[in-house]
Amino acid sequence: MAYDAHIHLDHYAPAERDAMLEAAFAAGLRGVVAVSMDLDSCRENLRLAQQYPGRVIPAFGRHPEQPPLSDGELAELCAWICGLPADLPKAVGEVGLPYFNRKEAEAAGKAFDLAPYVRQLEAFVRLSAALDLPVALHAVHEDADAAMDLLQKHGVRRAHFHWFKGSRATTDRLAAGGYYISVTPEVRYDEETRELARTYPLDLLMVETDGPWPFEGPFAGRRTEPRMALDAAREIAALRRLPEADVLRALTANTKRCYGFPGKEE
Ligand SMILES: [Zn+2]
Repeated sequence: MAYDAHIHLDHYAPAERDAMLEAAFAAGLRGVVAVSMDLDSCRENLRLAQQYPGRVIPAFGRHPEQPPLSDGELAELCAWICGLPADLPKAVGEVGLPYFNRKEAEAAGKAFDLAPYVRQLEAFVRLSAALDLPVALHAVHEDADAAMDLLQKHGVRRAHFHWFKGSRATTDRLAAGGYYISVTPEVRYDEETRELARTYPLDLLMVETDGPWPFEGPFAGRRTEPRMALDAAREIAALRRLPEADVLRALTANTKRCYGFPGKEE
């Protein structure tokens, strides 16, 4: 059981991807949320969602750790998302704010204009409000507060802060707002992640791999695969001293509730 709530499926070679997904499903993974980098990536993830109906839910958007789109490109991408079949389960993502690029620029003493990124994120938040779609967010530390301001301004409730890290105050605000976060296999060896996994409300927690991003600790040198989300889920159970089955059931229900995977609750 459990879902990988955030993976870049389109970054794997097609031959390895199909075998990897089949192995993950055989190991008990229910499905994955396939997030996009740009319009080409959106098109590939749409194709994968059609190849694996009910198993792959696509998230469409523009990853924030790259230059923002021009107004025309942004309008084109939003129009493309609006033109998709209404009955296709989908999300908006990966969208957010460029925390790592901004910090890198600032460390190098370069100016960094955040305003176009905030405008781009607001367009995606407005789109998810208009279409009633969940949002897969890349927004960590203080950027999560800026993202929450936009979500609350536009009344978006279903939002997932993937690989979230942040201050106690930001974490508490996320939980109070009913927003989801996910932990990666890093929960096996990163103390900050372990603390989140122990303390964040269990009904708002999910697991993800962000594959093919590579991990360390027990995963060093291994290709990141969606079934590693199950390792993260088992670690959460151990950290919270709860039965594995209960934790897997909760994580599964949360991902279904956030992203609208089909199927009954068990
Ligand atoms: Zn990602």
